[in-house]
Amino acid sequence: MDKAFDVIVVGTRCAGSPTAMLLARKGYRVLAVDRASFPSDTVSTHILHPLAVGALSRWELLDRLVATGCPAIHTYAFDFGPFTIAGGPGTDESPVGYCPRRTILDKLLVDAAAESGADIRENFAVEEIIVEGGRVVGIKGRSKQGGTVTEYADIVVGADGRHSMVSEAVHAGQYREKPPLLAGYYSYWRGLPMDGRFEAYIRDRRAFAVAPTHDDLTLVIAGWPYAEFAENKKDIEGNYLKTIELAPAFARRLRSATRVAPFAGTAVPNYFRKPYGPGWALVGDAGYNRDFITAQGILDAFRDAELCARAIDESLSGARSFDDAMADYQRVRDERGGAMYDFTCELATLEPPPPELLQLLQAAHGNQTAMDGFARLNAGTILPAEFFASDNTEAIFAAAASSKRASTGCA
Ligand SMILES: Cc1cc2nc3c(=O)[nH]c(=O)nc-3n(C[C@H](O)[C@H](O)[C@H](O)COP(=O)(O)OP(=O)(O)OC[C@H]3O[C@@H](n4cnc5c(N)ncnc54)[C@H](O)[C@@H]3O)c2cc1C
Repeated sequence: MDKAFDVIVVGTRCAGSPTAMLLARKGYRVLAVDRASFPSDTVSTHILHPLAVGALSRWELLDRLVATGCPAIHTYAFDFGPFTIAGGPGTDESPVGYCPRRTILDKLLVDAAAESGADIRENFAVEEIIVEGGRVVGIKGRSKQGGTVTEYADIVVGADGRHSMVSEAVHAGQYREKPPLLAGYYSYWRGLPMDGRFEAYIRDRRAFAVAPTHDDLTLVIAGWPYAEFAENKKDIEGNYLKTIELAPAFARRLRSATRVAPFAGTAVPNYFRKPYGPGWALVGDAGYNRDFITAQGILDAFRDAELCARAIDESLSGARSFDDAMADYQRVRDERGGAMYDFTCELATLEPPPPELLQLLQAAHGNQTAMDGFARLNAGTILPAEFFASDNTEAIFAAAASSKRASTGCA
């Protein structure tokens, strides 16, 4: 067996390219393949929360993103109808988000992996995961121009998305599964200035969100419960516009804008998969997927890339056994991802917020610290346990009561 590589990564978008880049920067021989070529688009909106922006900064790639002219997003605003909660989503070190087109972000990541020394093969479709004696040892695939190619490595990483061939080949165990909960469709609009704001509108069994992206365009995504997926597919534009009409002031803004792209969208299942086994690992959607309502996917993919690359380095360098290092990767991924997973799945039902949550948000309204906390919660900057901790919620209610007393002049 001619093992030309230490690691082969299948898939080179948000999870695969950073994994390949980080391992190549450590000096490993990395092959990363994708059946797509870059730049290319994929069905996904592309809110990049501040912690994901922080990862780009750690990897010294943020300047490149900023240089593409993508507008920064300093405020996340959640309009519940009677009131809006608007706050800063980030931290002092990483205060803003972005909404970069995947054509630009994914290309930037692939280029960074190549510059770090990874061998990148675009237009290369993996057709078989080679397993010998119960261990993954390589891949067989085909490039557009050539015939079948076989490559071997110590570890094959599946960064190949929701329909991961790697996870299927190794029968990665799935857990905490939930069916699709939401269907969402998006398009791009010209003439809809956002002034650095991400806006989300939450209505009865409907929601939509708006964010500024490259080329002075604005992304608008609208969603409805999965139960209506098949029926509403018959008239995506009509249902999309009807959803937006639920917020009349925004609908007026949209009427003066022009849609410049066809609709794209889908519904996705929710799951965790065991992310490692003999000779293989999974990162990104291949290993863990959650509904897109909280836009955590790219942030999660970046986090996985760092955790998994570290674990692979520990194993290949002999510092720890593969199983020990990867068990830590799985534990941290499940802890951090798991907390947002439940919150995300709850939101994705599009059920009206429970009365206790509405009371809390009404109390938070106008209290900038509390509103920043809610923006950070939705950005994945803080975990739900922090925002919903009793000392935080009690402080929000106490501040609301005290400002009410002050405004009514009562002691
Ligand atoms: C409608 C929608 C909206 C979303 N909105 C957001 C958002 O606003 N913000 C956010 O953070 N996340 C969002 N997400 C989630 C986000 O798109 C994913 O979490 C993210 O793309 C995961 O990256 P990945 O690299 O794991 O997988 P993918 O982006 O799916 O990339 C997998 C790659 O693997 C390649 N591949 C697959 N099989 C093979 C094979 N056999 N051979 C070679 N190559 C292969 C594919 O060509 C592809 O390029 C959204 C998702 C959807 C569906």
